Amino acid sequence: MPVRACLKYAEGADEVDALRREATLYGRELAALAGVAVPRTYGLYVGGTEAVPIACLVMELCVGAEVRRSADELGRLAILALCKVHAVGVMHNTPLDLRHFVMKGKKVFLVDFALAVVHRCENAHPVLWDKNFSPVVAAPHDLAECTELVEAERNIFSQVGENLPMKISPSFVRLQ
Ligand SMILES: [Zn+2]
Repeated sequence: MPVRACLKYAEGADEVDALRREATLYGRELAALAGVAVPRTYGLYVGGTEAVPIACLVMELCVGAEVRRSADELGRLAILALCKVHAVGVMHNTPLDLRHFVMKGKKVFLVDFALAVVHRCENAHPVLWDKNFSPVVAAPHDLAECTELVEAERNIFSQVGENLPMKISPSFVRLQ
């Protein structure tokens, strides 16, 4: 039965190389998160001519705005998806905000890993900033902050409103 999919297209050697790297990340470091924190991928197809190579990454189609009805929930799920990506050793390596996330049903996925790098995260959980961007955990000195996570939390909180930090339960720190 035909399935609707999303195609990410690259043209030219540099773009094709970047898409190859991205496809490799999806198939290796991010594989365990497919359908959880990143979209599923169905293969990279390379063709074109010697002068103009092209490539196409076939991905799960993610459309929907179900989560968008609740800005807080969208922000919360986006931060958790990013933390899961860091936990498997990938840094997105882009100034992150909600534009880098897509929704499918009630799920929120991080996308666009063209600039991503392998990363050993010292944190990989929400830092739980309050509305003043202060850590609200009991012992903030125990946290080794990850710059990308902290910046992303700030950006996303400022997009969805100041109530979000208080709604991230400490239980999510363990990414259950
Ligand atoms: Zn990290």
